[in-house]
Amino acid sequence: MSLPAPTLDSVTTINDDGSRRFIHPADVRGRFTHWRAVVGLLILAVYVGLPWITINGYPAVFLDLAHRQFHFIGLTFVTQDLWIAFFLISGLGFSLFYLTALLGRIWCGWACPQTVYLDVIRRIERWFEGDAHARERLDRMPWTGEKTLKRGGKNFVFFLFAALLSHVFLSYYVSPAGLSRMMTGSPRENWGSFVFVFLMTAAMYFNFVWFREQFCIVLCPYGRLQSALTDTNTLVIGYDTARGEPRGKKGTAGAGDCVDCRRCVQVCPTGIDIRLGLQMECIGCAACVDACDEVMTKLDRPRGLVRYDSLNGFAQKAKRIIRPRIILYTALLFLGATAMLLALSTLSPITVSCTRVPGVPYVLDAGKVRNEFLIRIFNKRNQPQHFTVAVTGGPAGLMATGTEAGVEVGPLGEQMRPIIVVVPREQVQGSFPLEVKVTSPNGRDVIKKTVTFVGPGY
Ligand code: SF4
Ligand code: SF4
Repeated sequence: MSLPAPTLDSVTTINDDGSRRFIHPADVRGRFTHWRAVVGLLILAVYVGLPWITINGYPAVFLDLAHRQFHFIGLTFVTQDLWIAFFLISGLGFSLFYLTALLGRIWCGWACPQTVYLDVIRRIERWFEGDAHARERLDRMPWTGEKTLKRGGKNFVFFLFAALLSHVFLSYYVSPAGLSRMMTGSPRENWGSFVFVFLMTAAMYFNFVWFREQFCIVLCPYGRLQSALTDTNTLVIGYDTARGEPRGKKGTAGAGDCVDCRRCVQVCPTGIDIRLGLQMECIGCAACVDACDEVMTKLDRPRGLVRYDSLNGFAQKAKRIIRPRIILYTALLFLGATAMLLALSTLSPITVSCTRVPGVPYVLDAGKVRNEFLIRIFNKRNQPQHFTVAVTGGPAGLMATGTEAGVEVGPLGEQMRPIIVVVPREQVQGSFPLEVKVTSPNGRDVIKKTVTFVGPGY
């Protein structure tokens, strides 16, 4: 059953009555398909491998929600550090804007997890059921033993792949060690995680079996943003109308380079015809570029009838890389990156707070004024640390007690200690600042907190 020719007024993969029309994109080979496979493999390897790489005693990425700690490439963030996430998230957002303005849907076609996963899924499908024609034949076939075996095998592998990805996702939150504990224990001990992985596997399996490109066409918000983020200088995948039209068989007098073989349409995973112009459904996978290049090579014509270029390039107008929106995005990106680096430079493996003990502000006793403070030290390292605490900056005769022997804080632990500061009465006129200095064992991390000592007349 051949699909109706794509138009700009309808979505090829949805019937007029709104039901789903399943498409089987044809196989394609070529330089972009090759490099996309390499990039996809690398992305999958990073996704699966990251939790297994240990840096500073933790997985490279470990979002330990249970203990409200986040370990990221050797840095540990606690809830108090989460303001840095603002820079991270806005930085990622601006990077995507920047990338889109310059390179169009490069993210969708090359690095989006949905695209990467579907490429794997289509390979599995091809392995079990053959090429696009064989798969269409199988769709039309009654349920024989052969069809049951092929469909059953394919669905089983889809399910395994969905389960693998879901378990890897969970390991980012519970660490690989936690995951293996959960997997060897009973689901009753980890109901929440068990239900989460079950639902995620089911959603992914549904996506692999049925939803597929519909996610990009009807659900993904980033796809909808494209038209606002791109302009006529953005790199897109398009068809060179001036060169290709009018279409006609090879040798037809006056015909352009497009021989109307429809290979570019057959390989398109979203079922569109790129010759109709730039469309929202195009995910920038470059399959049509490889398909058309193959045809052009066979016809002994130059490649690039369908190619990466800007709309200005296709219209044979001047192309501009540097333009107002690129300057704006670059400035925002630079600002964001600087703010984030500054924020990261303030990140310390110790969190310290020092506050006055509630109650009377000072005590006058035997010619001395006494203030009490409470110091709280949080150790973000996963080894115990012995911190030294010093109180400086006061007048002569100042004595601080409570932390002379230092403070031992366990791995990722917290300790509180009272500090009693005593100053001779004659040295106190109202109030004055004091500095409480906490130093890590190697002396590399020093945190200073200022408190106010108060006395009579403050
Ligand atoms: S693959 Fe190239 S030649 Fe064939 S229909 Fe598409 S644009 Fe025309
Ligand atoms: S038009 Fe080309 S680049 Fe766009 S989705 Fe289809 S095959 Fe991929």
